[in-house]
Amino acid sequence: MLDFLGNLKRTHYCGALRASDAGSNAIVMGWVHRRRDLGNLLFLDIRDRTGIVQVVFNKEWEAAAHAKAEQVRSEFVVAVEGNVVKRQKPNRELPTGEVEIIATNLHVLNNAKTPPFPIEDEINAAEETRLHYRYIDLRRNKPHRNLSLRHGIVLEMRKVMDELGFIEVETPMLTRSTPEGARDYLVPSGRVHPGQFYALPQSPQIFKQILMIGGLDRYFQIVKCFRDEDLRADRQPEFTQLDLEMSFPRQQDIFEVIEKVMVRVCAIAGVTVTAPFPRMLYRDVIRKYGSDKPDLRFGMELHDVTNGFTPAQRQHLGIAGRAFAFAAPGAATFSRKQVDDLNQRGVGLGAKAVYTIKIEENGISSALQKSLGAESLREIAETVPANKGDLIVIVGAKETPPGNDPAALIAGQLRLLLGERLGLVDKTQWKFAWVTGFPLFEWSESDKQWVSAQHPFTGIVDEDLDKLESAPGEVRSKGYDLVLNGYELGSGSIRIHRQDIQERLFKALGLTQEQLRRRFGFFLDALTYGTPPHGGIALIAFPKTTAAQDLMADSPSEVDRPQLEELELMTAYPHLDRHNWALANLCDRLWNAVERETRDSDLPVGTSFQQAMSLILAKSDDDARAVIFLSKSGYGVQAAALSRSLIEAAINADFIELDPENRGNAFIKSLQDSNRRLAKRMKPHASTSEMQNLIKTAEDIQSESGWPRSLAQRADSLPKPNYLYDVAYFMVSQLIHSDISATAGRLSEGISGQFRLQVGPSNEWVAQALATCFIALHEVARVAFSAFGIDKAELERFVEDFRKLTSQFEAAGTS
Ligand code: ASP
Repeated sequence: MLDFLGNLKRTHYCGALRASDAGSNAIVMGWVHRRRDLGNLLFLDIRDRTGIVQVVFNKEWEAAAHAKAEQVRSEFVVAVEGNVVKRQKPNRELPTGEVEIIATNLHVLNNAKTPPFPIEDEINAAEETRLHYRYIDLRRNKPHRNLSLRHGIVLEMRKVMDELGFIEVETPMLTRSTPEGARDYLVPSGRVHPGQFYALPQSPQIFKQILMIGGLDRYFQIVKCFRDEDLRADRQPEFTQLDLEMSFPRQQDIFEVIEKVMVRVCAIAGVTVTAPFPRMLYRDVIRKYGSDKPDLRFGMELHDVTNGFTPAQRQHLGIAGRAFAFAAPGAATFSRKQVDDLNQRGVGLGAKAVYTIKIEENGISSALQKSLGAESLREIAETVPANKGDLIVIVGAKETPPGNDPAALIAGQLRLLLGERLGLVDKTQWKFAWVTGFPLFEWSESDKQWVSAQHPFTGIVDEDLDKLESAPGEVRSKGYDLVLNGYELGSGSIRIHRQDIQERLFKALGLTQEQLRRRFGFFLDALTYGTPPHGGIALIAFPKTTAAQDLMADSPSEVDRPQLEELELMTAYPHLDRHNWALANLCDRLWNAVERETRDSDLPVGTSFQQAMSLILAKSDDDARAVIFLSKSGYGVQAAALSRSLIEAAINADFIELDPENRGNAFIKSLQDSNRRLAKRMKPHASTSEMQNLIKTAEDIQSESGWPRSLAQRADSLPKPNYLYDVAYFMVSQLIHSDISATAGRLSEGISGQFRLQVGPSNEWVAQALATCFIALHEVARVAFSAFGIDKAELERFVEDFRKLTSQFEAAGTS
């Protein structure tokens, strides 16, 4: 009953018909937007990308077409043949409202189920439904408009870039890691290079620099970038950038290119923007706006009011570093609750406290009055400066991490919040600005080291080069950001173009010679073959927000086991219990802390105790890693089995600790040369008598060393009860050896007496494996840290977290 398209050719777009078309024949194609049946007369509104046109079916004139039109419903796909005529009563709401089509023929090309929501400009279907049925949502006018605007913008960008002599070059997508400070999305090479990965580019940074070295002079690309980051309002896993790079540029030249692009692109979007954009120093915007991407659409600037407090007062209030304040106009009327709320926000952002001063008609009032005195309050009010009716908001920081002014940053957040709340932000304005003079490094609290504030190819201010190693926190970069209304729209820099400086920078970032050769060797080499000074920038062309999920295609999604196996991948178990994840993360943190203190550093091995502990620690460290990996992958049984070797290591550590030198020595002896020689003699197919000989030799070595042979012997000489041995070891052993499901993988008894084999990851036993791993690794680390003289405070804090987690477990009824 459906018609074929056949040789039918569209003559007009629905939305294009105007009074001047009256009198012509037309064939339009599209969706039935609406149907109104008045008996002899039937109206169909037909919709395509360009708009809607009204079609009239008259039963008397064209009975067949009319009969067909009676059958169609909303969203059926149709082609209409007919004559365009002027309407007697034009519809002023529609661009095509002066005409209608008198149908002679109707072709029904496809039918449609009733859509989950109507196709209208403003719909109130749930976001989730709309995203799930994205193809229906897209039929609306608004997304069509947005997509054509986007097309127009990209086209304009290409035009401007072309006019300015830039060449568009595509760079690889399956590539190696490009450092932009996020994590990479990895693509397993799988069959062709098992165990090796491509990374999707976080940006084409290295490639565009290579193009400059290759003499391309001016490059650009409208390019997808991929960054695995924590989700934030303006971040998403894949986004499009306008990326460019030029040779021999001054900072000024790059700014001019971008200003030209922005002016032209904004014009396409109907916004008038004037260039040049103001330029501001990082230092100043932090001090004035508490942000490196200031929203300049309103005032409420910050002021340093540290001097309003004496050192003693600051100590008394417990505030560190400098204090920042701003005056919120008209907010002196804030209620107690509103003020409390502000304080809570500030504390939530990490402030020690937020203080307020109300400038009221009859004087100043503040909770600070007692500790500071009226004179200081007046001084602060003058510094800010505040008027009658204002609320002065003062932020004091809890601590002062290197290179940071937390009080200013927190005050900056509160400024944004109050700016919105007090209606001070003029939404009609587009306030662009350039920010320069960024610090080259930023202090990473988690890594306890300086990391690149931008990416590691960012140029260094010439005068600051000398401080690269001696005072990294003071070094300024040649980086710049373009900001708009509180958002970072783009960022770039004049680059390092000399190999010696690039290498020094990598070293300052803590990369060893070997690491930097492995990761960036090719690039460092390239720099030695005549690299021109160069610089560039990338603009995020279309910022938007998503939850890194596609609800229509349902991605990301799980992958079937065969596919994983083909790629030689073992992944996190997607259904791992929430508690298990928490426990795994805690184990990770412990493991990382142990690694950080011990890996790649020269551990003292002057005493037997130290020698023994470095061996035990090294092995435990690897075993723990494996237990954690297996657990996260849901291989709980296997992880639990392996965790027994960690228990043994912990018992050994405790046993040695009671008489460190003698027992450390015995332990080392039990492992030494003779043992290695013995191992060499053990062939896979040794005869029984040969084997017995070997076993005898092994026993001799053991007894000569003085190291007690069995684990029980070592455990028995430890104080009782010994949690590790008496409880954990036996529990795990018992589980491993007595339970059918453990012996056979995973068996469950569905129908009584019948076993059902389930292969693959599950939640079972993961908790036991991880808890065992935590306790045993912690114990090994504790003894090892004593042996090496490493501070144990951090280790002790983990125990608290472990207790908390396990009690949550119990409360939740999971074990
Ligand atoms: N590659 C940088 C980014 O994507 C931009 C640049 O430095 O040109 O943020």
